[in-house]
Amino acid sequence: MQTMPVYWKTRPEDVAETCALVKKGRVSIPAHSAGGRPIYMVEYGKSNLVRGKANLSSALGGKSYQAYADKTGEDYIPTVFLVGAVHGGEVEGTSAILNLIKLLETGTDYAGKAYPELAEACEGLHLILIPLANPDGRARVPFDSFVGKSFHDLRYYCQGAWKDGTLCGWPGCKLVHPIKDYVSYLGSYFNDNGINMMHEDFLSGKLSDETQLLLDICREEAPDFSILLHGGDNSPDHIIPPTYASGKAMGEALELSRRVEKRHLAENLPYHFLPDRRGEQDDPPTSFNLVSAMHHTCGEPAVTYESNQGLVEAERPGFTYDQIYLAHRLLFTEVCRFVREKGR
Ligand SMILES: [Zn+2]
Repeated sequence: MQTMPVYWKTRPEDVAETCALVKKGRVSIPAHSAGGRPIYMVEYGKSNLVRGKANLSSALGGKSYQAYADKTGEDYIPTVFLVGAVHGGEVEGTSAILNLIKLLETGTDYAGKAYPELAEACEGLHLILIPLANPDGRARVPFDSFVGKSFHDLRYYCQGAWKDGTLCGWPGCKLVHPIKDYVSYLGSYFNDNGINMMHEDFLSGKLSDETQLLLDICREEAPDFSILLHGGDNSPDHIIPPTYASGKAMGEALELSRRVEKRHLAENLPYHFLPDRRGEQDDPPTSFNLVSAMHHTCGEPAVTYESNQGLVEAERPGFTYDQIYLAHRLLFTEVCRFVREKGR
């Protein structure tokens, strides 16, 4: 059994404590969860406020992205939007974001280490960080990590159990929504209303506050790149490109994935490059999910990043804590470099 390192921080109180350190950035609580828990946000760098006079649909209808968001100004600063634990138990990204905040505030992370490459990559950008987007789900997980836990634990605590006690599992856990009234144990995928933020009825006009927050940020800030940080059992790390995406956003998502792959391989970390699977052409077609909605709100790429979770008794080998943390630092470094280059 691996000992949990001092830098591993995934509890709601860790989020609050880290946010209390913030002096260089700005902290806010822009929304609360269905269960009334605060959702913290930390920002670095100035907001560009580049919004034009049209929403994205109307602007593109008039063949001008600038009519929605004008990023052509000399002083334009690219924005990176990182979101941890949309699925409340998938806390690998939460720990990485909290350590990034600690690093940017004090020069060292919670292990007392400086990572100059990462700190430099973040310089001069506008960063929007939400360490824990689904605090309701997180509150139902009685431990701080899935490292050393089994696949059975993962399914129970993430996806939950039906009324007869059997595990919901995938894909069954997605075949009822909201799931709340069908389960004896509500998994950490869901907020307290049984909503999986990845799969809301996005055109209903009645989104949960957690989901609305992410879409509002995309609409207002038009982030140059948004990443939802997930855990994907013991799969090799991978970026899932957005579905129903523009060619430009798809190209950029795949380009970032190639760069992250290169960094992973150089560190002997397993990585799986996922191409555009064109699942929109299948029957049934691939889902339009939260990542698609974020992309369609701002026109820029939004992706899901799936991290290895370090399980035991699973089909594939688990990463160590250090490997999970390293992989996230590589991802953060590369996305920051990418948006800077893209802006030139
Ligand atoms: Zn997930």
